[in-house]
Amino acid sequence: MEHNNTMRGVVFIGNGKVELRNFPKPTPRGTQVVVKMKAAGICGSDMHSFYRSQDFWAQHPIIRGHEPSGIIEAVGEAVTMVQPGDRVSVYHAPACGHCEACVRGEYFRCTTIGPGYRLASLKVHGCDADFLLVDQNVCFPLPDSLSFEDGAIIACAGGTAYHALKKADVHAGEYVLVTGLGPVGLCVTLLANAMGAFVIGADPIAYRRELAKHHGATYTLDPAQENLAEKVKQIVKEGVEVAIETSGNDQARADILQATNYHSRLVYVGFGGQTQNIMLSPLLGDRMITGSNMFTGADYYDLTRFLLRKQLHFDVLVTHRFPLERAQEAFDLFATKQTGKVVFTWD
Ligand SMILES: [Zn+2]
Ligand SMILES: [Zn+2]
Repeated sequence: MEHNNTMRGVVFIGNGKVELRNFPKPTPRGTQVVVKMKAAGICGSDMHSFYRSQDFWAQHPIIRGHEPSGIIEAVGEAVTMVQPGDRVSVYHAPACGHCEACVRGEYFRCTTIGPGYRLASLKVHGCDADFLLVDQNVCFPLPDSLSFEDGAIIACAGGTAYHALKKADVHAGEYVLVTGLGPVGLCVTLLANAMGAFVIGADPIAYRRELAKHHGATYTLDPAQENLAEKVKQIVKEGVEVAIETSGNDQARADILQATNYHSRLVYVGFGGQTQNIMLSPLLGDRMITGSNMFTGADYYDLTRFLLRKQLHFDVLVTHRFPLERAQEAFDLFATKQTGKVVFTWD
């Protein structure tokens, strides 16, 4: 484990290789706190930079990880909102707390701190480490009945899933099509089912379809083998009321237009892919189409209340747990997509 003034942190060293390195243990100043990490999730978005070159990562020896949950270990002299011993889920972008974006709870759009400063960006150390230095204002209280793994998942995938469902204005009894059953899609599945909707999950990976079935999907389908829109309309003749696209796959982006009806709500969450434009006009009707990006501070409180009242846990989606020293194995496994959520845990 960590020794006195050093801690361990995971860095990418290029071409899909990671390394566990020693870093100075951070000291909180002013309104900063140090969080002793208890759970940190691996995210689909981590994989976008996992294979970048050795040269690139040699210039950015920044600790990875942006899904933190843990216990406040030490606080700066000006900290008033939290204290040592508090269980927290940490919002993964530093925030001033005062600009318009922050007041809206959209901390990741903070205009004072500016873009590029999210945890594990190229400028700020992330949470795949024994300790994490952040400001008190992004430490949200984690209710006792939620686990640290719940807290880590809420910090990115779960919060993102909840925000998308809120934007979709899901009603009980409606059909929700979820394309992509990675961590975000699985969180959407779990929540939409708990909201009383019927979930149709689509993913080419059988392992992920099975997980989705286990955690709330009434139907699953394989878009690599079946025509998604045709299959969906065999289940719901008129098309689904809601579609949530989490894969970032070009085909899925187009397919959900065909699988919905003229007054459906479509939410695009997944990023990446090549789509330059989707031909909308002949298909649109009264569809409502929106993007959805991350989540707000208000979402955090609404989501944790929802989980508590429904006695739900995101940690049921965790299929693999690793200590930091097995980081290479953890990332390699997650890259195969034969997993649900993969997390680092500490005793
Ligand atoms: Zn994430
Ligand atoms: Zn701000």
